[in-house]
Amino acid sequence: MKKFKNTCLYIRNKALIILILCPAICFSQDNRAISLEALQMKNAGLVDIRDLDSSITVHLLYATVNNFTGEQMYKSLREAYLQVEAANKLVLAQQYLKQINSDYKLIVYDAARPQWAQEIMWNKVKDTPMKRYVASPQRISMHTYGVAVDVSILDRNNKELDMGTPVDFLGELAEPKSETKYLNSGELTAGQVKNRELLRTVMKKAGFRGISNEWWHFEAFTRVEAQKKYTPIK
Ligand SMILES: [Zn+2]
Repeated sequence: MKKFKNTCLYIRNKALIILILCPAICFSQDNRAISLEALQMKNAGLVDIRDLDSSITVHLLYATVNNFTGEQMYKSLREAYLQVEAANKLVLAQQYLKQINSDYKLIVYDAARPQWAQEIMWNKVKDTPMKRYVASPQRISMHTYGVAVDVSILDRNNKELDMGTPVDFLGELAEPKSETKYLNSGELTAGQVKNRELLRTVMKKAGFRGISNEWWHFEAFTRVEAQKKYTPIK
């Protein structure tokens, strides 16, 4: 009994130390340490995609300064959350990809994105030509409904396949609708377009829809469906 009490005290003290040192960390119902940003997603019914398939790599661009805003928007969020149905589709896409090439796996650069983060992004671009690449906060991004994902493919050495531009490249070269033009001009190679096509093939087979101006962005539902089914994440 004494040993049990000591163990309980140890766990409680450890939890207190973590809470004091990391005010953005709290504990979920299953007692796992979790950031406040992640807890907000969980409480809204979203799932951490790596809880469904840990072979999917996650590297959130907006948890770093290496994104087009130059700001680290997510202070503590490091996991990719999606609505359950969207996450299940992503797991399927990963399976389809592995069936085609067992050395390949998906890497997720962004998934559910709260409205406040979308507002930061919009304020960066609203007075520039780049505004056509970012959803206005009034319109509500499909990321904010938790049904959009920014994704690419890693090879067996965890190196991203060459897609012709990095993710988050705001320009025509990243636009699927302009691929023929840039293939003809030599600014995109056949190999780069083939890699994009592979990504589109597995994502579409799993039930996602691509968009015409970003090769990395896919949506699990139409806007009308998302509006009916889900509430935007605050
Ligand atoms: Zn996106």
